[in-house]
Amino acid sequence: MQTNFSLAQLADPHVAESEKILRKCVHCGFCTATCPTYVTLGNELDSPRGRIYLIKDMLENGRPADKEIVTHIDRCLSCLACMTTCPSGVNYMHLVDHARAHIQETYHRPLLDRLTRAMLAFVLPYPKRFRAALKLAKLGKPFIGLFEKIPALKPLGAMLKLTPASIPAASPMASPGVHAGQGTRKGRVAILTGCAQSVLDPAINETTISLLTRLDVEVVVPPGEGCCGALVHHMGREEAALASARQNVDAWIRAIEQGGLDAIVITASGCGTTIKDYGFMLRLDPAYADKAARVSALAKDVTEYLAALDLPEPVRKPGTVVAYHSACSMQHGQKITRQPKELLAKAGFIVREPREGHLCCGSAGTYNILQSEISAKLRDRKVKNIEATGASIVATGNIGCITQIASAARMPVVHTVKLLDWAYGGPRPEGVPEERLVAAE
Ligand code: SF4
Ligand code: SF4
Repeated sequence: MQTNFSLAQLADPHVAESEKILRKCVHCGFCTATCPTYVTLGNELDSPRGRIYLIKDMLENGRPADKEIVTHIDRCLSCLACMTTCPSGVNYMHLVDHARAHIQETYHRPLLDRLTRAMLAFVLPYPKRFRAALKLAKLGKPFIGLFEKIPALKPLGAMLKLTPASIPAASPMASPGVHAGQGTRKGRVAILTGCAQSVLDPAINETTISLLTRLDVEVVVPPGEGCCGALVHHMGREEAALASARQNVDAWIRAIEQGGLDAIVITASGCGTTIKDYGFMLRLDPAYADKAARVSALAKDVTEYLAALDLPEPVRKPGTVVAYHSACSMQHGQKITRQPKELLAKAGFIVREPREGHLCCGSAGTYNILQSEISAKLRDRKVKNIEATGASIVATGNIGCITQIASAARMPVVHTVKLLDWAYGGPRPEGVPEERLVAAE
């Protein structure tokens, strides 16, 4: 694509980076076919190609964001299906991240939208605040219908709908410390405790620590870890996202210096995509660029790490049919497609992949709150495809997808690591009835 940025504009490294990305786009439109919002809404401006034109126009003319561009960029899920499809290697992720930061700096959103976004950024990345907010949200549940009728209050209604009926107790395993492997040490990893997942389903990390230590891997929970920054990053709150990234980089570099790390294990693929991008996000910060690149290189999804281990034979032979839902951040963001399915199959599960597996389930961070109508359409489409597999259980590797799909599916939805842990001798995952996990023998 031809671009016409001035030399003065290109002196801004963010603009220079976006210009490089724009020039790679050849307008072919292949990406439109796999874009969930184009498939759902049928509007070119809600396709990757349409958004790329809008972003180009905004950046090239150096103008503030307007209502039109904000509408179409807000509707983008950042699912990155377009990056998987694009034959020209257009890095849409970095382009839309830049556009979102520009929108945040230059666009004055309506009051309620501003308040909702500020509240999400204040609450979600902090487990204690999030836990308190979930307790409070239970009081608001009777008003969901009312909120859904008032357009400006729809996000509040969507948020209340997603509030779980019960909130698990905080996990002691999330506290800083070292969990030693059971036998001769085969590896040493740090685990990201994260934010929302540690409140909604602390058993995911507990299970991961239990499985890894049974496999003789030492697991460190370094002091100072926090939210990866993805939630605010996707809202264009660049400084907050970079502050989270720096905090985590410091925590993990300390852990590396104190005893070495083979990997930083991440159990939410949305966080993994962002942490693997820390090197890029902090490239302009001389104090952090090298350290962040080192951290990104060590970041591994738990299934990526497990697949590289020499796993023993599973204790149980389940023979259970599992529908594997590949989160967008897993398949498009991190290009991890093979390992989770192979691990499940090796553990004795029969793995089925739902049709339209490339399409987002509509969770996408805060998308199911801020764009609840499109999100619900995508969720229902996803659940229909999952149920058509005839599986007993859904496995996936991202807490956002688990919450989203579980809100409509008539079968248990669990993190992949919980099924693996059970097959390798761990307890039955909570919420999965015995009959859904019938062992073959
Ligand atoms: S990230 Fe997803 S929703 Fe956004 S343009 Fe690309 S394919 Fe479409
Ligand atoms: S597939 Fe790639 S090159 Fe083609 S229009 Fe989409 S982003 Fe541009």
